[in-house]
Amino acid sequence: MRSWLLVLSVGLFGCPASHRYAQLIRREASPPPVTVFRDVRVFTATDTIALEHHDVRVEGGRITAIAPTGLDVTGARVIEGAGKTLVPGYVDFHAHLTGSPAPPWAVAWPDEDHNGRALLASGVTSVMDVGGEVDKLKALWKRQGDPSWLGPRFTYSGQIVSLRDGYPTSMVKILYPWPASALADQRFSGPVSNPLEASAAVDWRLHHGAHHIKLAIASVPLNAQTMPPELVSAAVKRAHEKGVKAVAHTDSAVHALRAARAGIDALMHGIHLGELTVADAQELKAAGVVVSPTLVVFDRAEQLVQFRFAPTEVERRLYPESFLTPFSPDVARTKTLDPQLMEWLGKLQEDHDKRVAAVKTLYDAGVPILVGSDAAGSIGCLAGGAFLDELRLLSLAGIPNADVLRGATVLPARFIAGPNADFGTIEAGKRADLVLLDGDPLADITVTSRIANIMQGGVLIEKVD
Ligand SMILES: [Zn+2]
Repeated sequence: MRSWLLVLSVGLFGCPASHRYAQLIRREASPPPVTVFRDVRVFTATDTIALEHHDVRVEGGRITAIAPTGLDVTGARVIEGAGKTLVPGYVDFHAHLTGSPAPPWAVAWPDEDHNGRALLASGVTSVMDVGGEVDKLKALWKRQGDPSWLGPRFTYSGQIVSLRDGYPTSMVKILYPWPASALADQRFSGPVSNPLEASAAVDWRLHHGAHHIKLAIASVPLNAQTMPPELVSAAVKRAHEKGVKAVAHTDSAVHALRAARAGIDALMHGIHLGELTVADAQELKAAGVVVSPTLVVFDRAEQLVQFRFAPTEVERRLYPESFLTPFSPDVARTKTLDPQLMEWLGKLQEDHDKRVAAVKTLYDAGVPILVGSDAAGSIGCLAGGAFLDELRLLSLAGIPNADVLRGATVLPARFIAGPNADFGTIEAGKRADLVLLDGDPLADITVTSRIANIMQGGVLIEKVD
């Protein structure tokens, strides 16, 4: 059925583009037994302050010592850190490794290997995948120990548990012509109609190795039906019975609260339709949810429809020109999108200031803010580049840089792997996933993009020109 759809869609609508992606990175050929980052500023992420003039020793893929500079470096490889800052490897809380961020008028074959390389080249050493075909993700997950996988370590949720004909089906249908829409829908949606099906959908994903469950409670287009509370509750309850977390794509305060009241663990987007009151934020805090605002998702969508999409310098290195050209104002101006989608995009632009303010309201209420970029999952969210841009947008929204960095490291690590996560912090005994930055990100958030070195599990990731 799947290949039949594929052949028909290719026949009717032309072949999705294949791009020639650059290699970008490689693992160093023979990592020495010991590496010392010498005389460096260390942001451990266990705190909001940095340690000045410290040495960090790495051995056997783990961090083995952090001490004021002066560690014995006999026989060790030394990486000089003066003026630089060592931070934990970044964790993208919202990625789609098997997706593509291409615009609907230039559909591209998803390329998970390029997505992985682009993320890792941006310092992202771990991600949480929150939507994709579960079998494809299971196969990819098995490649993690294999040298052929050059990308972040990850966990996955598989297809999104969604209301039959609700989002994402409702969006895919207006974004792509049939049968391409059916194909895309099959990749992302897992439609359910009643609590029994919602519960069974959770079991099916877990049976296929999923590590968490993702739900969708969103109005795209604006008149789309959304998942009623009893279905949300059934899915979340089943996930928790099975010992896994449940996360949700939500848009408005109403939907965020519906998810929170059902016991959801994380909201994968901020409040981007309508307003969030202080009382709402306090309720979300009391419910114990974490929120990933993904400001970059809405920023990129606005840029595209306002004909001012401009890939960052990082993105121009990560993606070939053939991939980026369809986003350009000259091309975008010649395209039309479905009126229902334009209506949603109009509302998004109207609520621009409200969604930025909501981030600060949540932060002030004590809700943990986690950094997610929707890498390769939303149009224009280029893997790696969108993550670095999200750090900048969160800082602009009023989150102190130290908390932006904690939201990009320790907070998602602990959400994914529990309080004893062996990544996300710089502490003795933890996995040596590290990023060396040229400058001080606590003083200037854009320093997070000025990457001097990336280390994953004690192995340096080298740039390939
Ligand atoms: Zn997403």
